[in-house]
Amino acid sequence: MVNATTGPRHPTITVPHVGEMAEGQLRGHLCVWCGQGLRPDASVDLGPRIGEDDHRWYPRSCPACAVPQLHGQLVEHTGSCEQCADEPRLCTVWESLQSALREGRRIIARARTDRS
Ligand SMILES: [Zn+2]
Ligand SMILES: [Zn+2]
Repeated sequence: MVNATTGPRHPTITVPHVGEMAEGQLRGHLCVWCGQGLRPDASVDLGPRIGEDDHRWYPRSCPACAVPQLHGQLVEHTGSCEQCADEPRLCTVWESLQSALREGRRIIARARTDRS
């Protein structure tokens, strides 16, 4: 479930519960899903959140976790959303998930290019 969800960008992406987070994950230094260290230029912003104690926190993800996680959430969402059945581009949830997913794929594609 999505609990505290405020913030201008991607507020509708489901992330693990804040109680299970390490300090670095709350600060956006570590991936919220796998706990791996993140490079700021190669991580996906999942949108700032306000926690139960009014603490702002900044979930970020490595692209390797972001792509399957966001894709799964997108499939699940579109299967149950009336707005998406009608016109997904008008759905803010769809838009948030799509843009974060695009970001993850872009980082992966760029990493491949850098290596070759
Ligand atoms: Zn990860
Ligand atoms: Zn929708």
